[in-house]
Amino acid sequence: MIKHLEIRVNGIVQGVGFRPFIYRLALENNIKGYVLNDTEGVTISAEGEEDALEKLVKAIKNNFPPLAIVQEIEIKEKPINGYTTFFIEKSKITDKKTTFIPPDTNVCEECLREFFDPNDRRFYYPFIVCTHCGPRFSIVKDIPYDRHNTSMAEFIMCPQCEKEYKDPLDRRFHTQPTACPNCGPYLFLYKNDRTLISKNIQEITKKVYEYLKKGHIVAIKGVGGYHLACDATNDSTVLKLRERKKRPFKPFALMIGSIEKIEEFLYVSPKEKELLLSKERPIVILKEKKPLVSRFVAPYLTHMGVMLPYTPFQYLLFSLDKDLILIMTSGNLSEEPICFDDDSAFERLGHIADYFVTYNREIVAHSDDSVMFVIREKPIFIRRSKGFVPSPILVKKEFPVHLFASGGDLKNSFAIAKDKVIILSQYLGDLESPITQKVYKSAIFHFLKVFDIKPEIFISDMHPNYFTTSLTDKLAGDKMRIKVQHHHAHIASVLGEYEIYEPVIGLAFDGTGFGIDYKIWGSEFLIADRASFKRVGHFSYFRLPGGEKAIKEVWRIAVSLLYEAEIPMDYLPNKEKYPLKIILQMIEKGLNSPFACGMGRIFDGISALLGVCEKISTEAEAAQKLEELALSAKNYKDLEIKFEEKEEKIIISTEDLIKKIVELKDKGLPIEEIALSFHKAIIKVCVKVVELLREKYGIEKVVLSGGAFQNRILLKGIWEGLEKSNFKVFIPQKTPLNDGGIALGQIVIGREILQ
Ligand code: ZN
Ligand code: ZN
Ligand code: FE
Repeated sequence: MIKHLEIRVNGIVQGVGFRPFIYRLALENNIKGYVLNDTEGVTISAEGEEDALEKLVKAIKNNFPPLAIVQEIEIKEKPINGYTTFFIEKSKITDKKTTFIPPDTNVCEECLREFFDPNDRRFYYPFIVCTHCGPRFSIVKDIPYDRHNTSMAEFIMCPQCEKEYKDPLDRRFHTQPTACPNCGPYLFLYKNDRTLISKNIQEITKKVYEYLKKGHIVAIKGVGGYHLACDATNDSTVLKLRERKKRPFKPFALMIGSIEKIEEFLYVSPKEKELLLSKERPIVILKEKKPLVSRFVAPYLTHMGVMLPYTPFQYLLFSLDKDLILIMTSGNLSEEPICFDDDSAFERLGHIADYFVTYNREIVAHSDDSVMFVIREKPIFIRRSKGFVPSPILVKKEFPVHLFASGGDLKNSFAIAKDKVIILSQYLGDLESPITQKVYKSAIFHFLKVFDIKPEIFISDMHPNYFTTSLTDKLAGDKMRIKVQHHHAHIASVLGEYEIYEPVIGLAFDGTGFGIDYKIWGSEFLIADRASFKRVGHFSYFRLPGGEKAIKEVWRIAVSLLYEAEIPMDYLPNKEKYPLKIILQMIEKGLNSPFACGMGRIFDGISALLGVCEKISTEAEAAQKLEELALSAKNYKDLEIKFEEKEEKIIISTEDLIKKIVELKDKGLPIEEIALSFHKAIIKVCVKVVELLREKYGIEKVVLSGGAFQNRILLKGIWEGLEKSNFKVFIPQKTPLNDGGIALGQIVIGREILQ
C-alpha cells in the first residue's frame, strides 16, 4: 500500500551530503516526493510502498552520511499527494539558526583510490575531497557554509568540477571545497629562507622524503596548521628538534603509514585501533612493544602518541616507504599556539625547520591534532581539537538564550551554547603569552560569528587573576555575568555530558584551581549537582613556597611536605643544591607561600622526594615520570592513610601519607615499588572516603574528573575500586579530563543559575 510520510530530521544534516543521500535512497526504493533543507534541519516528503518507506527511515537512523549527526527524527503520516518524481527542493533558509559546520576529517577511501589512480583526473592532487571528507571547520569564514564563505572562494571551479558539484548523483554534489588540478590550490616546496624549490607534487614528495632521511626538519602545512616533521629514528635529528623547539622533555607525536606498522611497534587494543582508524584521526597514546624510534622521542616514557596519515600529501609521503616513522609535532615554539598563517610560519618556524611544504589556501580556523588514550577500553580525551571541533554536544533541554563560557587559563577551550547544542572550541593552550591570548580572542570572535551567537550570559572561572576572567568581564559589559568554581565545573561537565540532574559524589583531582577559601584546591570530594556544590573532603593543605615557582621547581613542594610532616630535611635528595634555609623561612612565615592541596602537587612533591624529578620543563612532567616508574614495579606495600572528619569535612592527612612514604624509603624498598605503593595508597583512601560519603549522603553516582586522572594507575584504580564497591562511575568522554573540559561545566552551571 502506498503511504505518504513527512519526515523531519534534525541534528547536523546540512552541508554534509544529507540531501543527495536521501535522493539516492528514494531513487533506489521508488519513492516519490522531495527533500529540502529548512531552518530546523531536513524535511522529506516521501510517498511510496510501506516497506520502501520503512527502509528509508531505517537508513536515516543507521546509515546516515559520515559527517552527519542525526539528533531527532519526527515522522507524520500525510494524505497522498500523488508525486510523480523525487526531487531536491531549493533551500528555503532565511534564518541561519541551525547551520552547523562539520569538523575536518581524514581523506576518505574513495578519494584516496582516485588520488593514487594514474588515470583519474585527480591523480596525486593533494586537495582532493568529497562530500564525506576533507577540510571543513578549518576553511570556513562565515555562514551559511557555502563556497563563497570559505577560503576556497578565490578558486573558481572549472566546468568539470562544477558539473560534479551540481549533480545530485555525484560524490561531490555540493562539496563546497571541491577542486582539481585545473582549478584548485596547489603545494609549494620552499627552503626556510623562502626560496622556491618546486611546485611539482611528485618532485616535492621525493625531495621531502630525501630531506627527512638526511636528518632535516621539514615544516608541513596540514589541515589545522603547520606540523614539524622529522625522522623519528634518528637520535641527532630528534635532539636537534628538541633543542630548536626548546622542548627538553615533552614527548613528540609520531605519524606512521599503516596500522600494521603501528602494531609492529606498539601494543594496540581493539578500541585503540578503532580510534586510530577513525575519520577524526586522533593521536592515540600507546605502549611501546619494540624500540623502533629514538629514545629521545619520549624520554623516560614507555608510552607514545601516534597517529595515521590523514591528508593526501601525508599518504603520498608514506607511500614511498612503508617503514617510515616520522615525528609530526605541532609547528610552534613551546607554549605558543600552532602556526597556521604562512607569513608567521616562516617567521616563527624559520629557525626550526630547514624546509617548508605549504599551499596557497588560507587556514581560517586553526587546530592541533586531538590526543586520546584508552583505559578499560574507554576512549578518553587529553586534547579535543582537530577532527572533533566544532561537533556539537547535543542536549535534551533547549537553551533559552545564548551562553558563552570562557573556560580556564590552562589547556583552554571555550564554549558557546544555543538551541539544544553546546559547542566547544578547539584547543587553545595556556593563555600565558600575549600571542596565545590574541589567538584566543580571535577564536572567540570567529565562533560568535560563524555560529551566529549573541550571548546573553557570560560565564568564567572565579580565579581573580585568570586572563579568561578579566576578558569575560570585558566581553560581558552589562550583560549577565556568572563566575564558577573550578572543580565544580570539572564535575558539572560530566553532569552535562551524561544528562545527570541529581546530586553526585564528585572527585575533582587536578593541579591548581582557585577555591572559595582563597586557597588552591585540587583534591576535591564534592557533593555536587548542576546548581551548587558542597566541599565534603580533600587532602590536607601544605604550602607552595614561591607560589608559581614551586610548580616548576617541584623540590620546593617536597621541602614543604617534609616540613608539614615534621620529617628532617635529610630525606630530600640533593638537598645541598638548594637554598633550604630561605625556603623553610618562607614556609614558616607564609611568605609568598599559598596553601594548596592539589593532587598534581602531591604527585610533584613525592616525585621530588623520591629523586625522580626535581624540576620540570613541562606541565605534569614530575607526575608522569613517577607514574612510569610505578608502572614498572612488580610489588607494592599496602598503606593505610589516615583521615579525620573536621567540621563536616573529611580531611585526608597529607602528612601521614608523607610519613608512610618516608618509612618505605627507610626500609630500603626499591624506588619503583615505593612509587606504586604511593599510587595504591591514594586509590585505597579515596575509595574508602567515597564509601563513607555514600553512607552519609546516600549517593551512589560518582563522577571522576580533572587532569590528575590522566594518570592511568590512578584513574583505573579508583574507577575499578568504586565499581567493585557497586558505585555507578562516570568519567568525561566527550571532553578532556583536564581543564579542556571545564567550559562545558561552566555552561551547565550557568544555565542552572539562570533558571
Ligand atoms: Zn572523500
Ligand atoms: Zn576543477
Ligand atoms: Fe582543573
